Amino acid sequence: MTQDLAPWASRPDESRGRRYPEQAAPGRTDFQRDRDRIVHSTAFRRLVYKTQVFLNHEGDLFRTRLTHSLEVAQLGRSIARALRLNEDLVEAIALAHDLGHTPFGHAGQDALNACMSDHGGFEHNLQSLRVVDELEERYPQYNGLNLTFETREGILKHCSRANAEKLEAHDPGGVGMRFLDRTQPGMEAQLCNLADEIAYNAHDIDDGVRSGLITLEQLEQVPLFEDFRVQTLAEFPQLQGRRVLYETIRRMLSAQVYDVIEATHAALRKADPHNADEVRHAAHLVQFSEPMRQASVVLKQFLLKNLYRHPQVTQTTLQAQEVVRGLFAAYLADPLQMQAGFAARADTARAVADYIAGMTDRFAAREHERITGLKLLP
Ligand code: MG
Repeated sequence: MTQDLAPWASRPDESRGRRYPEQAAPGRTDFQRDRDRIVHSTAFRRLVYKTQVFLNHEGDLFRTRLTHSLEVAQLGRSIARALRLNEDLVEAIALAHDLGHTPFGHAGQDALNACMSDHGGFEHNLQSLRVVDELEERYPQYNGLNLTFETREGILKHCSRANAEKLEAHDPGGVGMRFLDRTQPGMEAQLCNLADEIAYNAHDIDDGVRSGLITLEQLEQVPLFEDFRVQTLAEFPQLQGRRVLYETIRRMLSAQVYDVIEATHAALRKADPHNADEVRHAAHLVQFSEPMRQASVVLKQFLLKNLYRHPQVTQTTLQAQEVVRGLFAAYLADPLQMQAGFAARADTARAVADYIAGMTDRFAAREHERITGLKLLP
């Protein structure tokens, strides 16, 4: 069970602990328990019906938030093992990192944030933390999943100064602190951030080509893709169709994984941290080499321009935002339209945001149709 951990890895026996102290579990570390709690949570199961880029009803083979999270966990664990980081912690953070996402992906988040502008705003990273700290109702003694500090630290990957100050006021020295004193999270949290990026860059190419919204010819402009496509065809000149795509993406993924391992080893040699806490006061350590970082930026810009802003994607985006806005207005005007537990809460706007954020794409679309009589999405 004990993994051969590097000195800079997070160790469950050195954890800063849980908000509500609990006895150790026989045979499982605290980070394994965190992962298990996340897998059994309600929010985790909902990820299967939440949009990554393509709305859930657009096709069965596109990534959803769930398959995306599994891919982040896989990439994260591979890199973690090579760097001798804590794989259980990486897995826990990766599986939880998108729990706070609204239905309809970033379109849903932007719409909900706009609705909440007079009520403290809405931000999906902060919401992921809220899900595991407050919104899950699975234990008799407390709200949330009562996860360790290290998992919660990794889940809160970005946070505005204003929100960090609110977190600090509520929980001094907690997971908001690093956004105020500008320190780093542990290596495992740093790794999940980069694994997230590697995962979506790769799978959005795959989904983009499958949907027909981007073509292999267009991808010739992207050196990170094109170099491996040329390499693949040099080795397998007869190869055609989707096998070219898959082999190219596979090589691209491997190259990025090895690049992160090498560049992070170099950064570790320079920073020379002796333990997980020294990592927090060092420079950011888990990283691409400079050439790979630049290649990854070019790929991201390509996807932004050609996929995320494709007219067919933005068209459904507008309808999805209309659904979120319609639901928000309706529940705010009549909270009893929500489930009893949400309707009874004192801060109505936040209750509405929590309720909408928890919805799957199809539940949100059905609810909107039930309340307004308008069918905006299939
Ligand atoms: Mg993600």
